[in-house]
Amino acid sequence: MSFAETLDNLALTKSALVQRFEDLISPKSDHELEAMAQASRSLTLQNFGRTMRLFAPLYLSNECINNCRYCGFSRDNPILRVTLEVDEVIAEAQHLARQGFRQILLVAGEHPKFVSRDYLAECVRSLAPDFSSISIEVGPMETEDYVRIVEAGAEGLVVYQETYNRGVYAEMHTAGPKRDFNFRLDCAERGYAAGFRRLGIGALIGLSRWQDEAIALAAHLEYLFRHCWQAQITVSLPRLRPAAGGFRPLFSITDRELAQLVCALRIVFPQLGIVLSTREREISDERSPAEIAAVLRRRGLEPVWKDWDQALCSA
Ligand code: SF4
Repeated sequence: MSFAETLDNLALTKSALVQRFEDLISPKSDHELEAMAQASRSLTLQNFGRTMRLFAPLYLSNECINNCRYCGFSRDNPILRVTLEVDEVIAEAQHLARQGFRQILLVAGEHPKFVSRDYLAECVRSLAPDFSSISIEVGPMETEDYVRIVEAGAEGLVVYQETYNRGVYAEMHTAGPKRDFNFRLDCAERGYAAGFRRLGIGALIGLSRWQDEAIALAAHLEYLFRHCWQAQITVSLPRLRPAAGGFRPLFSITDRELAQLVCALRIVFPQLGIVLSTREREISDERSPAEIAAVLRRRGLEPVWKDWDQALCSA
């Protein structure tokens, strides 16, 4: 069964694991939430020790052929459009490398001409000698296109579904190939078939009720853990902000609810990578990577700049 079928039947049929997750995100007393936090912390320590993996995004292009109502890069927004030349990408990446990063996420809008498979492969190939982990977050592609990017040296693929509610999805994505909900939904599996060893999914918090998005996300995670079991699976929970074009988030989640959601994810998926942004709660975070690393160390955590090297496979 494809995940699309699972998703479309979710209102009627939920697995035992998703039912457990649904219970964990239902309203809790302070005492219950504290117990969840303790259980979650202990599972994190068991599975990850005190480590926290650090990576940085590098924006390649804001060219885009889609209109997404919540995004300032939408094609109808009259903004300055820039796509970095490969030399400029290398220069930006070297700046990040000087700050300690060896794990990088290449981000771009969806544009087959400016952000083509070959352009992405060339960027990845140029960065591979200096970065142990290169991931991409770009428009969905076919498996054979992903294969070329994996061969160039990329190991991670990130594609957020944005919202798992088909009606809201259709309302938010008003033009462009992104309107194809199912093509996006199957992206992680195509990436896995192409050889990506890290797969990241997520939902934007703010397009519909967070509880509904979280349940669909949990079902998607369960599906990926079963079908893409050799990959490391990660999840992101970005909270939407107002964007160019006048968009204002329609729904919200409190800090307490977000903490409960993170704990519920950890309890139900002990091996899941949970991605947190340093920009959480702020529009921009001016602290340097070294300052963030120092904050983590002060809290007894170990910042990890590199957790993988291709040489491990070629011995
Ligand atoms: S596809 Fe991505 S970059 Fe393009 S408008 Fe939508 S969210 Fe923005």
